[in-house]
Amino acid sequence: MSSQPHIVLPWTVRRTRLPLLSLRCVDCGTASATTGEGRFRVNANGKLLDVWLLVRCVRCDRTNKLTVHERVPVREVDAVALRGYRDNDPGLVAETLLNPLFAHRNGFGLDWAGAWRLLGPPVPLDGDWPVRVEVSFDDPAPVRPDRLIAHGLGLSRGEVVRRVKCEVSLRRTTSRAFSFTVLAGD
Ligand SMILES: [Zn+2]
Repeated sequence: MSSQPHIVLPWTVRRTRLPLLSLRCVDCGTASATTGEGRFRVNANGKLLDVWLLVRCVRCDRTNKLTVHERVPVREVDAVALRGYRDNDPGLVAETLLNPLFAHRNGFGLDWAGAWRLLGPPVPLDGDWPVRVEVSFDDPAPVRPDRLIAHGLGLSRGEVVRRVKCEVSLRRTTSRAFSFTVLAGD
């Protein structure tokens, strides 16, 4: 069946908590840290400002400081952001942690395992028409399309390969929107 899909359904990938950080602890060697409740530390030194995001080793609780701003003139820091740093604004904690530049500068990766879920309506698998599903990401959790689709449809990965046409590689991890089509049942 090659006609255009009659049904289009939305799926969304959304985080359920902040991902862990892959960051080796200098005390115990564990390679996982958390932002916990998400706290910044702000230090004003004259007209210069340092801002760090505090993270904690998941095993030994050692606190590590990740640099957000280093010796920047106070007037160059956005006033709303500065208030957010001082108030430990959860949205700003998430925005900071998920900023790829921040991760790169501080040398950590994000561990998204168990930190997101898939939202969306069930997909009819035995209809007479193909169904298109448009997958969007509210948060940049990396997923493998074949695993996500198998999970979302309740099919095996082999069945996914047989019944799903996807515009992106099924096996290449992505956190960018994509869509796929489930062919009609036999
Ligand atoms: Zn540790």
